[in-house]
Amino acid sequence: MAMAAPQTCPVCGVKILVGCAGGDRVLFSVGPPGTRLKLYARVCRHIDKPGCINQNGGNQSASSKDYYKPDAPK
Ligand SMILES: [Zn+2]
Repeated sequence: MAMAAPQTCPVCGVKILVGCAGGDRVLFSVGPPGTRLKLYARVCRHIDKPGCINQNGGNQSASSKDYYKPDAPK
């Protein structure tokens, strides 16, 4: 079984554990770990700079529960 390899996004500064069972895990500075999609919905889509390692949220589409409540699509 492969070890999860941590990657740090140089733009957001968030750590992502790649290769975890069940998908990549994002280590937020506050709160429990989440998905790349959650990181994208909450952080990366606001930053939108080249060099971000999570620019597409892991190719999944975000659902409203992945956003902070004020940002959730109606
Ligand atoms: Zn990022």
